[in-house]
Amino acid sequence: MDNIIDKILQIKKQKNAIILAHYYQDPEIQDIADYVGDSLDLSRKAHQNDYDEIYFCGVKFMAEVAKILSPNKRVFIPDSKAGCSLEESCPPALFKKFKEKHPNAITASYINCSAEIKSLSDIIVTSSNAKKIISQLPLDHEIIFAPDQHLGRYIAKETGRDMILWQGSCIVHEHFNEKELVKLKTNHPSAMIIAHPECPQNLLNYADFIGSTSALLNYVKNSASNYFVVLTEHHIIHQMKKLRKNANFYDCPTINEAGCTLCNNCPYMELNNLEKLYDVMINGDNSEYGMELILEKNLLYKAKKPLIKMLEMS
Ligand code: SF4
Repeated sequence: MDNIIDKILQIKKQKNAIILAHYYQDPEIQDIADYVGDSLDLSRKAHQNDYDEIYFCGVKFMAEVAKILSPNKRVFIPDSKAGCSLEESCPPALFKKFKEKHPNAITASYINCSAEIKSLSDIIVTSSNAKKIISQLPLDHEIIFAPDQHLGRYIAKETGRDMILWQGSCIVHEHFNEKELVKLKTNHPSAMIIAHPECPQNLLNYADFIGSTSALLNYVKNSASNYFVVLTEHHIIHQMKKLRKNANFYDCPTINEAGCTLCNNCPYMELNNLEKLYDVMINGDNSEYGMELILEKNLLYKAKKPLIKMLEMS
């Protein structure tokens, strides 16, 4: 393993490249990255850096954001199949028709969507800045929020703004099991339940704290408690343990009809590994799994506007 890590670090230096990784990546990828963060942190890093190449360890829509914000840099992903259920739940052609029914609405889209959906949006939000941005939108306009219905409903409640919600969702956050959560809390009564707002409302009802991945980390860092039940993707616990070595973290069980007891591993994020990262670093488009991300100019231009607006408003 050390050998492959050394090789990756060496090539990175030769290519004047940066490795960005999302909190939901495997620990060995998080530990080799120059920067680990949530979607908002990573968008900022993608926008402001002096490197020639970006190796994005996350899912495809995140790498698209890096390319849109830094069009002159080459952006690579370790596995071209690393998609996202939330992104897939909002096909651009259907979304276009949906928008036509509300011609005067402002379209605010969660960053977890395709470049095409971004190009059809007025502004992009992340789970870190959604409250702040939605609160600033003019009161005399309807707001369409896509694609995550649960985040949309949560933000509507928090801001008091009525929003027309696209009915998309993330497979990871929908799999937590309410009965098992109650059992876990009964067995660990002093544990704090911390949840990402992509979870359905019946689960958020139990949460002591709701926030983006960065906000959850911050909460853990400053909490007096030593016990936490975590309702988001499993790999965030790697960073939580770094912040609080002696604290105890429990994944909320995900027992469902399919019998899956740990479905909180994102199957898309899981596709990336060090071998694939190394392969795309040396072979580029000829690598077995990875690829360079190329976006058509017009799409890139249209998708950039709402992203820049987000960076300005957050
Ligand atoms: S955790 Fe959910 S929203 Fe995040 S990449 Fe995976 S499927 Fe998409």
